[in-house]
Amino acid sequence: MRDRQGVAKTQPPDPAVQRILERAEIEGIELIRFLYVDHGGVVRGKAVSRSRLAERLGTGIGHTVAMMAMNMLDQLQEVERMGPVGEVRIVPDPATYVPLPYAPGAAAMLSDLRRQDDSPWEACPRTFLKDAVAELAAEGYTLVAAFEPEFTLGRRLPDPAGGPDRLVPLDDSLCYAATGFDTAHDYTMKLIRALESQGLRVEHYHPELGAGQQELSIRHAPALRAADNHVLLRESVRGVALRMAMWASLAPKPIADQAGNGAHLHMSLWRESRNVFAGDSPERGWFIGGLLAHLPALVALTCGSVNSFRRLAPRMWSSAYVCHGPDNREAAVRICSPLGETGEPNLELKPSDSSANPYLALGAVIHAGLDGIRRKLDPGEPAEADPDTVPGRYPRLPGSLAEALDALEADELLMEALGPLRRSAYLAVKRSEAAAFKERDVAYELFNHLRAF
Ligand code: GLU
Ligand code: MG
Repeated sequence: MRDRQGVAKTQPPDPAVQRILERAEIEGIELIRFLYVDHGGVVRGKAVSRSRLAERLGTGIGHTVAMMAMNMLDQLQEVERMGPVGEVRIVPDPATYVPLPYAPGAAAMLSDLRRQDDSPWEACPRTFLKDAVAELAAEGYTLVAAFEPEFTLGRRLPDPAGGPDRLVPLDDSLCYAATGFDTAHDYTMKLIRALESQGLRVEHYHPELGAGQQELSIRHAPALRAADNHVLLRESVRGVALRMAMWASLAPKPIADQAGNGAHLHMSLWRESRNVFAGDSPERGWFIGGLLAHLPALVALTCGSVNSFRRLAPRMWSSAYVCHGPDNREAAVRICSPLGETGEPNLELKPSDSSANPYLALGAVIHAGLDGIRRKLDPGEPAEADPDTVPGRYPRLPGSLAEALDALEADELLMEALGPLRRSAYLAVKRSEAAAFKERDVAYELFNHLRAF
């Protein structure tokens, strides 16, 4: 900033920035990763050294606009205004600074993509979620959420036949079996410590059905924080494994004949410190009505990869039909009973996994639910039984990413919410992935999803 004589004025130091600079020095941090999630669902970023951090906290790091047109195979797609000309900046949110216990000397900050003039870029995913949260707040509501991720733990081994590397699971322990706690114990303890030290409060952990499969849930938080937490968790799951010469993946179906990895999305809606999903207020039904009305389109964002649709099959507890039901683990939207007398009910969206961009997924869920409330959409009768046992009663979810993208393109509300630049880039990136994997075999699909997620 300059005064009238053109003399540079010093800005008062921002206390949040000062705190980060002090912490980075005390904690021996040399490199700070500015992270964002792209349209392929991949966590990417650039890092700055501590000596340049003070400046870069304000300006961010310059980045090509084209990276939001990159798919999960690192194939750049042709998207208007996302070519080789044009620059955005990766600008970190000071509230998100965390040292990374699995990467000594490094810290991370979750970031927005901003234009040169510091205004939010229309294709910034984190801004999409912030805008959805603001739209919800304008109606008097706050969404509290948590992703409930499953992942597969094992080792990376070359294929003896010369094909792509495979994830060989850590164990063959049974579902929830106590032996599974032991086989994964050293890893689990490191992971839990890593998450807690980043301020993520671990709720539950257990070994699950698939070979090497684990599930670990983080305490719920307001929507933006919940999405940020999920990114930090994804990074930690893989980072801790790498430090132990292991390989972990949150890919939706990392091993074709084993249970899939969901990241069920739990949420409750609050108005003036009251959970409106509790009691008999009508909003819960309307919100579910909105989720179900948009579900075929929504899954193009919450289950964002080709591999996602291998997971969404009947009798896999991942959901395959558009329906809701109380404590129904095959329904796309499960109404979860509260735990104990002081517990609060919440909704669980089952068709959700960690290959999604969590900011786009959660933002789209908010738009769908809010649409349900605004239009007072009737969710229909709750499914009391496994929907697969009542043939023809409930519509099936899209069977492939390509089908889900067709539904997304036909969904006026979500297309409008995404806006012209973001929707054309998202559709181009995801259509290219659908086309690329169609040409190749299962081993290629699995390897590339293991590598990305
Ligand atoms: N693994 C299942 C899925 O793909 C979920 C099993 C469960 O925890 O209910 O969603
Ligand atoms: Mg589970």
